[in-house]
Amino acid sequence: MDCIFCKIVEGTIPSKKVFENEHVIAFHDIQPAANVHTLIIPKKHIADMNGVEEADLFLIGEIHRAAQQIAREQGVSESGYRLVNNCGKDSGQVVFHLHYHLLGGEKLGALNS
Ligand code: 5GP
Ligand code: ZN
Repeated sequence: MDCIFCKIVEGTIPSKKVFENEHVIAFHDIQPAANVHTLIIPKKHIADMNGVEEADLFLIGEIHRAAQQIAREQGVSESGYRLVNNCGKDSGQVVFHLHYHLLGGEKLGALNS
């Protein structure tokens, strides 16, 4: 399958990994939109939120649990951070392997600005 994030999971494309367990990995976004910008993804290929089935729901918990740890390790747990999922073309999703952006390390703009 021609999926860039599957290749990152396999290690055939390099990434700056900040977290890994059996189900999830996280790595620095190649084009950071904030001082802290990591991407948290399931190792399993799921195209987007619409593709999350009943049996995959635990992965969402795993991702949130990883986000807590990454936020602590990146030093933004107390100052605050944002966890964002884009789903589909209107959201601006460009990589069709489920991922969550963890953004922080600075004052983030309001969602309605
Ligand atoms: P989306 O718009 O799909 O929610 O976000 C995809 C994100 O993946 C973007 O922020 C983009 O910078 C990042 N990205 C795309 N290709 C690569 C890559 O090869 N390596 C890394 N680390 N990030 C990537
Ligand atoms: Zn994939």
